[in-house]
Amino acid sequence: MKKIICFLIIVLLYLTIVPASGLRYNENKKIFSDFDFLTYDKSSSTSRIIVRIYYDEDIIIPKNSDILGGFPDEYVDILLYSSDLIDIEKQNISYSIIDYNYDYSATINAGIYHTFDEMEQILNDISDEYSEITRLFSLGKTYEDRDIWCLEITDNPGIDEDEPEVLFTGVHHAREWPTMEICLNIADELTSNYGVDENITNIIDNRRIWIVVCVNPDGYYYDHDLFSGNRWWRKNRFYFPEFGTYGVDLNRNYAGSSNGDDLGIWGSTGMSHNPSNELFCGLKQFSEVETRAIRDLIINNKICAVISWHTYGELVMWPWGYSTDNKTPDDQYLSQIGTEIALRMTNQDQDCCLKLDRYRRVDRYWD
Ligand SMILES: [Zn+2]
Repeated sequence: MKKIICFLIIVLLYLTIVPASGLRYNENKKIFSDFDFLTYDKSSSTSRIIVRIYYDEDIIIPKNSDILGGFPDEYVDILLYSSDLIDIEKQNISYSIIDYNYDYSATINAGIYHTFDEMEQILNDISDEYSEITRLFSLGKTYEDRDIWCLEITDNPGIDEDEPEVLFTGVHHAREWPTMEICLNIADELTSNYGVDENITNIIDNRRIWIVVCVNPDGYYYDHDLFSGNRWWRKNRFYFPEFGTYGVDLNRNYAGSSNGDDLGIWGSTGMSHNPSNELFCGLKQFSEVETRAIRDLIINNKICAVISWHTYGELVMWPWGYSTDNKTPDDQYLSQIGTEIALRMTNQDQDCCLKLDRYRRVDRYWD
C-alpha cells in the first residue's frame, strides 16, 4: 500500500481543444476553426459558454454553473448558461468569454478525439509494430465488459530486470478526453524513437514504463463515443440499483496514507458520499475494478513513480493533496520534480512554459 502513495504527480492541463495533431494515427481528423462568433446568443438559457473570471476577493458563481478550473486567488473558469452571465456582470468583476458556445464546440471537438475502439486499434498497432519492446495486456474487465489496457514499454517486456518503473495514466475522468491523446502520444513517441533517439533508447533500455491510456473505459465510451452534446460525465458507469444512480469518481476511490493506514483519507476530503454526486467516492475504498486494477499493477511490480493526467486546469500537483500541514518524507524531491515538469511544459504555440506560480502543492484536490 505504501508504494501507491509514495510518488504520485497529478498534472492538470488547460486543454479544451487539443487534439492529437502530432500523432500519426490522427491525420484524417481536423480541428474545426471557422465558428462564427457573431451567432452567440447572450440571452440563451440553453446554450452554454465558458467564462474566465478574474478575482482577488470573494465572488459568487451562478447557481447552475460548473467550475472547470482556474488558479486560486487569480481566476476561475466556469461553464454556465449564456443567460446567467448577467449574474457575473452584476458583480462588476472582470471577465472574458473564452468559449462562446460550449455545446457546439464540444460537439465539433468530439470528432477530433479518438474513440475507445480507435484507441484499442492504435495500441494493437504499436504493440505489433514494436513487439520487441512492448507488451499489451488487459488489467481486467470493467462493469460494461471493456478492457483496461496496459502497455508495457521496455527492452525486455514481461521480465523484471530490477529497473526503475514509472506509470502514466489517462482518463480517470470520462470527460477529460485529451488525457487519452497525451498517453497515446507518450506511447508513440517512446516506441517510434527507439533506436533513433539516443535519450529515448537509453530510457527504454534502462527503465520499465507502464501506460494505462484509459483508466475509465466505460465512462469515456459514454461521454465521448456516445456523445450527444450534453453529457459532461466524470465517473465510471457502475450501476447502483439500490440508489438508481450510476458511477463512482475513480480519483476519489483510492486509499492509503503515509502511516500505513489502509483507509487513509478515503471518503474524508473533497469528495461526496452521495451516490448521485459527481464526486461520489464509492461505498468503500477500492470498491471499483478500475482503481483495483491500478493498485494491483503498482503493488505487483516495482513502480516508484506515477503521473496521472487530468484536464482542465494549469496545475502540477504532488502529495499530499489533502493537506498543507502534512508533508511527505519526499517533499523536497517531489517539489523538485513537479517544478521541472511545469517548467518544461509549453502552451499550444510552444512559446512559453507555465508561469512560475502555476505549480505547487495545493491544499486540496482540484481534480
Ligand atoms: Zn480529472
